[in-house]
Amino acid sequence: MKFEAIAVENIPLIHAGDNLPSIICENIELQDRDIVIAASTVVAKAEGEIFRLEDITPGKISLEIAARAGKDARFIEAVLSRSREVLVEKPFMLVTTLSGHTCVNAGIDESNIENGFLLYPPESPDASASRLGQELEKLSGKKLSVIVTDTNGRAFKIGQTGIAIGIYKIKPVKRWIGEKDLFGKDLEITEEAIADELAGAANLLMGEGADGIPVVVIRGLDYYCDKETYIKEMYRPEEQDIIKKGLRCLQKKS
Ligand code: GDP
Ligand code: MN
Ligand code: MN
Repeated sequence: MKFEAIAVENIPLIHAGDNLPSIICENIELQDRDIVIAASTVVAKAEGEIFRLEDITPGKISLEIAARAGKDARFIEAVLSRSREVLVEKPFMLVTTLSGHTCVNAGIDESNIENGFLLYPPESPDASASRLGQELEKLSGKKLSVIVTDTNGRAFKIGQTGIAIGIYKIKPVKRWIGEKDLFGKDLEITEEAIADELAGAANLLMGEGADGIPVVVIRGLDYYCDKETYIKEMYRPEEQDIIKKGLRCLQKKS
């Protein structure tokens, strides 16, 4: 049993308006059921999600948080503009974004972008994954899945990992509930975060710095799903999210 993870080489620096699907297809021959994994950084650059820090005017709430947290109020304003809820202000901004993903700084990056600029993640990562997937399918004539990734930390462990923020034609979670273990016992709770595992595998080839590998193709694993799929299938339902509940309690106390 094996699968391949293939770095797509020769992708240039991406700018607003660039045709990412064409650039990908010029540099790899896609096959049926390939999983195309694209770093949100290049998806966002192509979509023009680039802002100048000096152009941002912080509002009252941003100024207050910035004063409490010792941060640049313009950066806080950028984070709030893409957030529906702030769970932690200090030592970092942990927020739930407008699209429902919970992460640090709403996924806004200052790395791998020119100095003085901020790169916001795609506003609707599922829509970005769908557009990319549909265009890649048109150009290649193949059935494909797409995952748009970002690098996120985890609550209880040191080290960041690639995770999925938007998907196209792939079921993000595999339910093992009802399947048997080696000893014939029924599995009761295990759900495997396939989309995050694939994002993590792809991130091994992307790295976080100057490698210049924003797209990786996973070949030989069949997770293709011929219907609409949504990243929110991975979000824990609010009523079951005890970590968020705990963080809200801490916010109220401080
Ligand atoms: P993120 O995880 O989506 O925030 O993306 P990263 O900033 O960690 O970058 C992931 C990979 O994409 C790294 O190998 C970067 O060098 C590469 N990368 C970022 N921007 C570009 C670009 O415009 N062109 C190319 N070729 N690679 C890029
Ligand atoms: Mn990022
Ligand atoms: Mn990264």
